[in-house]
Amino acid sequence: MTPALSVLEKTFGYDAFRNQQAEIIDHVIAGGDALVLMPTGGGKSLCYQIPALVREGTGVVISPLIALMQDQVDALSAVGVRAAFLNSTQDVTERRRVEAAYVAGELDLLYLAPERLKIESTSELLNRGTIALFAIDEAHCVSQWGHDFRPDYLQLSVLHERWPSVPRIALTATATELTHQEISRRLELGEARHFVSSFDRPNIQYRIETKNQPLQQLLQLLRTEHPGDAGIVYCLSRASVEKTAQFLVEQGIPALPYHAGLDAAVRSRNQSRFLREDGIVMVATIAFGMGIDKPDVRFVAHLDLPKSVEGYYQETGRAGRDGLPSTAWLAYGLQDVVQQRRMIDQSEGDRAHRQRLGQHLDAMLALCETLQCRRVQLLAYFGETSTACGNCDTCLSPPEGWDGTVPAQKLLSTVVRLQRERNQRFGAGHLIDILLGKRTPRMTEQGHDSISTFGIGADLSEQEWRGVVRQLLAQGLLAVHGDGYGTLVITDESAAVLGGSRRVLLRREAERAVRGPKKSAI
Ligand code: ADP
Ligand code: ZN
Repeated sequence: MTPALSVLEKTFGYDAFRNQQAEIIDHVIAGGDALVLMPTGGGKSLCYQIPALVREGTGVVISPLIALMQDQVDALSAVGVRAAFLNSTQDVTERRRVEAAYVAGELDLLYLAPERLKIESTSELLNRGTIALFAIDEAHCVSQWGHDFRPDYLQLSVLHERWPSVPRIALTATATELTHQEISRRLELGEARHFVSSFDRPNIQYRIETKNQPLQQLLQLLRTEHPGDAGIVYCLSRASVEKTAQFLVEQGIPALPYHAGLDAAVRSRNQSRFLREDGIVMVATIAFGMGIDKPDVRFVAHLDLPKSVEGYYQETGRAGRDGLPSTAWLAYGLQDVVQQRRMIDQSEGDRAHRQRLGQHLDAMLALCETLQCRRVQLLAYFGETSTACGNCDTCLSPPEGWDGTVPAQKLLSTVVRLQRERNQRFGAGHLIDILLGKRTPRMTEQGHDSISTFGIGADLSEQEWRGVVRQLLAQGLLAVHGDGYGTLVITDESAAVLGGSRRVLLRREAERAVRGPKKSAI
């Protein structure tokens, strides 16, 4: 039996390696550098913990998850691994104790917050002991374009410069080729072997539906499919986190809020209740979740559109680490698109940065509006080819495509008329009112009931029109003006639609039946 396998059995109590664990572990034990891309729940921790135990010295783990270090150390201590951490939450006595243990060679693993490496005394300390390896956890935090950027990660290249002979293993669950390259470059992992696992999470059922009454839709999901289950509900703003948590509590569901505006003590109490108690629903901003190792999260719900496919994948990936059927559910609507485009326009940073944010959003919108299997589209984003999964909403009830050219022309020409004839811009609500021929006070006041497109869209319902507007925005045939009011304008591409040379394929807004995970597909 190899030393690695023996540690796996004796210390961790497992009888076989998973995925590429065995290869990764052998490679690092032999002194090689590694870049490991493995989905959440894939088993990344053992990839550095076992080499740290087999190699001489202490495995030094760089992790941004200060709030979880105590839990990680406790879990390791429980199986007899000698682990400790150094971060800003400790007092001097505690720090000294850990430092002494490290120098005396009494630690198998030492967790460090990245900012500690800026301190010269940390280097001196590390030199006084034996370093078995460096593990850089959540390595995507080095990516400036990513959603979890931590400036302190940028200086982790010093590890290689100061300790060239110590093997390094960088790990992440973020998978795009660009992030991958960026990690490799910024951490100077040019010589590292890359281990890329499949990013498929077959036990997760992906579903994206149109947002009508989000809280009611969420409630229905929880009541019909996930009663008593633990889950995470993501909202964009702190205010909507509070509102949603309160709503769920009023409905008798044990929900807790989590966002950066809450007191640190409250956050940590809510987090530990979520981890330790059964059936808690955490309503949170994306500040919550990285590194949370709760195996039985049965659903992840998004009440607002994530900013990127990477973010969506990471957040939904927190469901079903135990491999049992789980739901990733997203409610998304016109307002999400308007809001996100507006946020991008108003965001800081240069044009290239905004362009990049726009591309991220476009990919997310494409996933929302796709007519094909969600999983196929999601994995394709990460460079994997796959076949229809049979267990996502588009596989279970295939959406219908329809020719939306005429409605698109009606809408676009209304926008054009208002702009050319009256030099006016309006948001989706008023434009739809014009098409539906609604004589609202604003309509008569503005004299818009005399526009030639007034009432020409009465063949579609208001909801269908919202779907048309949303999809035109998603396809770049309509844009949100930068005035901050969410008014809509045409784009360069709109001309071809108005001129009749481009047809518009839209997705039918289905009243989708909610259904449970198809267990047989797993
Ligand atoms: P990741 O960091 O990739 O999200 P973890 O390292 O937290 O994943 O592992 C996820 C879960 O799988 C943990 O509960 C871990 O103990 C378990 N696990 C990891 N490797 C194995 C294995 N070879 N056999 C059985 N369980 C494993
Ligand atoms: Zn599918």
